[in-house]
Amino acid sequence: MTMNVTEIFGSKVFNDKVMKERLPKETYKALKKTIEDGAELELEVAKVVAHAMKDWAIEQGATHFTHWFQPMTGVTAEKHDSFIQPEEGGKVIMAFSGKELVKGEPDASSFPSGGLRATFEARGYTAWDPTSYAFIKDDTLCIPTAFCSYSGEALDKKTPLLRSMQALDKQAVRILKLFGNEDVNRVITTVGPEQEYFLIDAEMYNARPDLIYTGRTLFGAKPPKGQELDDHYFGTIKPRVSAFMKELDEELWKLGVLAKTKHNEVAPAQHELAPVFSTTNIATDHNQLTMEMMKTVAARHGMTCLLHEKPFAGVNGSGKHNNWSISTDTGVNLLEPGKTPSQNAQFLLFLTAVIKAVDDYQELLRVSVASAGNDHRLGANEAPPAIISMFLGDELEAIVESIIDGTDYVDKKKKLMSIGATVLPPISQDTTDRNRTSPFAFTGNKFEFRSLGSAASISGPNIVLNTIVAEALDLFAEELEGAKDFDKALNDLVKRELTAHKRIIFNGNGYSPEWVEEAKKRGLANLVSTVDALPSFVSQKSIDVFTKHKVFTEGELMSRYEIELEKYAKVIDIEALTFESMVKKDIMAAATDYETFLANAINAKAAVGVPVPSDTQKKKLQRAAQLTETMDAGLEKLEADIAKAGEIENTYELAKFHHDVIFADMNELRVAVDELETVIPSDIWPYPTYGEILYSVK
Ligand code: ADP
Ligand code: MG
Repeated sequence: MTMNVTEIFGSKVFNDKVMKERLPKETYKALKKTIEDGAELELEVAKVVAHAMKDWAIEQGATHFTHWFQPMTGVTAEKHDSFIQPEEGGKVIMAFSGKELVKGEPDASSFPSGGLRATFEARGYTAWDPTSYAFIKDDTLCIPTAFCSYSGEALDKKTPLLRSMQALDKQAVRILKLFGNEDVNRVITTVGPEQEYFLIDAEMYNARPDLIYTGRTLFGAKPPKGQELDDHYFGTIKPRVSAFMKELDEELWKLGVLAKTKHNEVAPAQHELAPVFSTTNIATDHNQLTMEMMKTVAARHGMTCLLHEKPFAGVNGSGKHNNWSISTDTGVNLLEPGKTPSQNAQFLLFLTAVIKAVDDYQELLRVSVASAGNDHRLGANEAPPAIISMFLGDELEAIVESIIDGTDYVDKKKKLMSIGATVLPPISQDTTDRNRTSPFAFTGNKFEFRSLGSAASISGPNIVLNTIVAEALDLFAEELEGAKDFDKALNDLVKRELTAHKRIIFNGNGYSPEWVEEAKKRGLANLVSTVDALPSFVSQKSIDVFTKHKVFTEGELMSRYEIELEKYAKVIDIEALTFESMVKKDIMAAATDYETFLANAINAKAAVGVPVPSDTQKKKLQRAAQLTETMDAGLEKLEADIAKAGEIENTYELAKFHHDVIFADMNELRVAVDELETVIPSDIWPYPTYGEILYSVK
């Protein structure tokens, strides 16, 4: 079967082309205006759009519609309504009104709201986001929407993201005007998220309750072969995986997702998919769809897709690289070094704004990627550390240094020049020199924020990025708009800010223990766990910046803080209960079987007069008995601590207890379980091992 990619691309999307074909000219124009300027959409227009949308959807086989939204759970939500409307004579017609298109009222009382929406006022509403196209999935017309309470508070991950994009737009346009860019009307941020994931055989998945309930293995001894040989990275893709990837591409292309690159990752059974970048809110919607499709398509191939940040201890975890840039509506990438000194001065100012933002609000960036799952990566000796720092590359760093020191800069051709913000050498786009350990790296014409977890929505980190860069640009605009001598003011500002924020730039090895010490000396934050990081979200500094740019109200911040604390405690609690039951029921039984097996062997030998005292089997039995004891004690402690947690009322204390005590209990219990796994015969051990799981897809 050959696939006509250009034909199937976007075939399930009510995109611009379809709108142009199917909408009356006036309606199309009005809708375009709404999309581009954020103008209010009139109900009359919505009515016409709804009608055309419904006809198109029915032709595509759709029977239902849904307001597709992104509540605080981090996954997407949908409630399907059919198009049917009863008519006289027991018949139905297919109907879809303008009102149904623009506004929905899901019974939202069961979504987390962190106290924002009292349960007696359970109804939130969803509102169409016309900047993200409607699409068809599973015979349902999906309308991307924002989700708010009736008093206007955001209850989702899309609303604040759109607000943060507006904030950045406003401030960036101010700066661009200062450089004489009169043609620019709008500035957007762009994102290309690289998504990592594991694929395992569904049979293995179904045999592990921990994978089913928690998304990760709670125990498991290291397999003899892991990622030591680096033979999986970019390796040949196995036929079963390749078939999955092809179908995934096809499904994503139909949905208008720009799936571009696919390859094997470092760990066995680990893979990656990267799309071509797009506007941030579209990229966010598309990343949610991508994760969903990965699971759906894997199931069709008898496999399960694991999106958890750390499905297997001792094996690389999964992240998401958030490639981020700023671009004008005229198509200029503002983080692309220019060709002329004036373009370069503008680039340098935006670069300085990002450096300042990342340094001033490092805690917010850290908290934006914090989750129970991601704690296994950040701050745990794996890809990016919990300390936020920036990597600029050799050339750019040298330029920044000569600006700070006021010294001459020697370029690649050994040409010497004195530089300042308005006199810069052309900066070559050298992306070969990469620092893979940096959490926030400049990669030629964009920044790559690498701390994101694989399972989470990319909304949070982008909300923070957009807002903090908007804040830096706002301060810069304030200063430069009033300047008598623009060039001098610009030079002074860039030099001053680069000097002030130099500490955030680090080109060395981010995994090394020396960096932890050095970062401490520099005064950089090292928020190791989610519980350490979360309070920064509601610090005065955070409240100030988010409310100033109208991204979050104080109430919204407080509610999100509560939701995240609760979520953390719940995740650990579910893990603890799952682990408890697996150990109690099956692992204990296996240990007893093993002990009996050894005891029988010893007795049998004694019966025939084989000398026992020096027997290694006796030692084995003693060790097994010790491990069973340890497990018993560990289990008892875990159970007691789970009970204690039930008495804690304060949400912060609850999260902290789950981190400090319950999580620690699990890690300790695991040691004995993992050792037992290495000695208990395969036919007695009740669960698939790491080796079996990681090499299950042939
Ligand atoms: P790599 O990082 O592996 O070298 P690329 O540089 O080609 O690969 O890009 C990685 C990701 O960055 C892709 O998703 C790509 O679309 C995205 N990207 C490229 N340019 C931009 C940009 N201006 N804004 C946001 N993302 C971008
Ligand atoms: Mg990359």
